[in-house]
Amino acid sequence: MKSAELRQAFLDYFASQGHTKVPSSSLVPHNDPTLLFTNAGMNQFKDVFLGRESRDYTRATSSQRCVRAGGKHNDLENVGYTARHHTFFEMLGNFSFGDYFKREAIKFAWEFLTGTLGLPEERLWVTVHISDDEAADIWLKEMGVSAERFSRLDEDNFWQMGDTGPCGPCSEIFYDHGADVPGGPPGSENDDLDRYIEIWNLVFMQYDRQEDGELKPLPKPSVDTGMGLERIAAVLQGVHSNYEIDMFQALLQAAAKATGCNDLEEKSLRVIADHIRSSSFLICDGVIPSNEGRGYVLRRIIRRALRHGHKLGQDKPFFSTLVTALVEQMGEAYPELAREQARIEKALLAEEEQFGRTLAAGMKVLEAAIAELQGKTLSGEVLFNLYDTHGFPPDLTADVARERDLEVDMAGFEKAMEAQRERARGAGSFANDYSDRLNIEAETGFSGYEKLADDDEIVGLYRD
Ligand code: ATP
Ligand code: MG
Ligand code: MG
Ligand code: MG
Repeated sequence: MKSAELRQAFLDYFASQGHTKVPSSSLVPHNDPTLLFTNAGMNQFKDVFLGRESRDYTRATSSQRCVRAGGKHNDLENVGYTARHHTFFEMLGNFSFGDYFKREAIKFAWEFLTGTLGLPEERLWVTVHISDDEAADIWLKEMGVSAERFSRLDEDNFWQMGDTGPCGPCSEIFYDHGADVPGGPPGSENDDLDRYIEIWNLVFMQYDRQEDGELKPLPKPSVDTGMGLERIAAVLQGVHSNYEIDMFQALLQAAAKATGCNDLEEKSLRVIADHIRSSSFLICDGVIPSNEGRGYVLRRIIRRALRHGHKLGQDKPFFSTLVTALVEQMGEAYPELAREQARIEKALLAEEEQFGRTLAAGMKVLEAAIAELQGKTLSGEVLFNLYDTHGFPPDLTADVARERDLEVDMAGFEKAMEAQRERARGAGSFANDYSDRLNIEAETGFSGYEKLADDDEIVGLYRD
């Protein structure tokens, strides 16, 4: 089954169960300044769940475009390293706003997977929260799931929107890709390897957490679920990695052609194929590459892709040429992407031309620093010089370092940044001096439960 057919089958199944089909919202969450990018299907319904807004339906289904590159959910560092993570992906979801609860949510999910899609039960593994006897009973006694493929987990299976407010236990469904792939079942030591891949998360919003930590039952519990389209497509297409599904194969082929690299399993090609999706959709939704906030996250994604192109030997603009292949794959489901094609290409090309002027020189500086390196850590000064003179966001340098099994001194980088700021202040030219630079400082402008990037988050970008 093609990805596009699968998206349709999901929406049709839930529509047949009384759900209203709701279009994907923008990647820029207009109703929530505390959120960096839309990162789940439930985002656009946040106020409905909180009872602040009502709709003329109590059941909804959607295929939501999501970006997880920064903020609380950041999968940027996973791209190219796992079979299952993207910066941009589509989340299929069904939602109940005070309508049905655990029993129906579990029944729908199981019926869709094992009935509509015909997946063998022996390949599926189910988890519930340690406290959730109700969900455990429904799975084991009513659905007949085998206790051998069932576990109770703690933190991974509890969802909350913030320190207070709606929250509740979740139940997750995993697919076993088979003994050829290393990794253990959920809850075991190696569960983060990619043998058992999480495909669907069912969240049961059941409590309203009070200031003092008390879990007060919600009068009308709700349901929020999310299933990654690319992950379930991989399962149905009989492949292990998301990058092997139809949609990605087309993008990988386009990237191979544009870079002259013919190995479709090459990590850099995967990064490029992933990043063209997130960059294009972000630009489509109004983000432009810049030195601060959302635009800076976008710039970092684009520059990382360009660095991978350079690694494959391509120093001419190539990234913007991939938009055509993307529109071929996704333009039907997202007509706005096709409509905005020219604008997207133009914005990407401008960034390619700008960074193209310093990328090769910066890489030479970096190679020299690596060649001279004593020990395993690139200093803050090297990071700062690359950032300041060559426009290398430090996570880009860290990405190169990781390929060589090296570390980077982020604290040293921050110190060098601070020294630079002091100098600029002393010279009385702060604003001018920074107008054309990558301004990490400005990223701290966001706050809330999904901090865009406070110091911790920035450092977090360089860890595994
Ligand atoms: P994982 O543990 O694999 O990182 P998650 O628990 O962070 O996934 P959820 O927040 O529960 O994911 O999101 C719901 C679903 O969205 C997941 O079950 C998965 O199918 C999909 N998903 C989450 N993150 C990604 C991603 N970065 N790329 C592709 N699909 C994703
Ligand atoms: Mg995750
Ligand atoms: Mg998970
Ligand atoms: Mg999950």
